[in-house]
Amino acid sequence: MAADPDFKCPCSRGKFYQECCAPYHRGKAAESAEKLMRSRYSAYALNNVDYIVRTTHPRHPAVSQNLNVWKEAILNSCLKTDFERLEILSVSEQKDKAIVVFIAHLKQGEEDATFTERSYFAKVEGVWLYVNGDVAPGENRHLK
Ligand SMILES: [Zn+2]
Repeated sequence: MAADPDFKCPCSRGKFYQECCAPYHRGKAAESAEKLMRSRYSAYALNNVDYIVRTTHPRHPAVSQNLNVWKEAILNSCLKTDFERLEILSVSEQKDKAIVVFIAHLKQGEEDATFTERSYFAKVEGVWLYVNGDVAPGENRHLK
């Protein structure tokens, strides 16, 4: 984790990290699926593997796998990726279910690794969790 409290949060809201996603990474429950989505993106950007794991729904297929193998896979993908920008296309939130469509603008070395995802969230005992997502490579702005 970067020690400088004055850096801009990777989730692209234009706020400083300490006033943006840091409280969630320290344990505060995200008030909305969109905030959880943003804080997960910034966790990826900051190699915060534990946050990714603990905000993933138990129904997600990776949860049943070996935890250390899963964590290593997350870390490896964090380390080889530059998280350039997050763009939220749409948010549809109900009482305990939400869909967030976003474009993650990413680079891996010189390669563009941008993808668009329709991601599904569920609220479990008052806490928003990431369930799963449909991923398409590149920018797919028509997805809503
Ligand atoms: Zn943030």
